[in-house]
Amino acid sequence: MTIDNSHGKYDLICDNCGYIYDEPVIGFHDALDVKKEAGWKSKKRNGNWEDWCPECAGESEG
Ligand SMILES: [Zn+2]
Repeated sequence: MTIDNSHGKYDLICDNCGYIYDEPVIGFHDALDVKKEAGWKSKKRNGNWEDWCPECAGESEG
């Protein structure tokens, strides 16, 4: 999980292309909601969960 709250907000970082979705959110569940609404997807690759931005998630579906 590449969510960092060390500075009071969460930065979603795409594990595929490195895109940073800079959105202030409060609380872990809110972060997940924001992620879902923005079209981010969690993908399991090589046994690890990765966060993919909408662009990458759309491209590699299937
Ligand atoms: Zn991406």
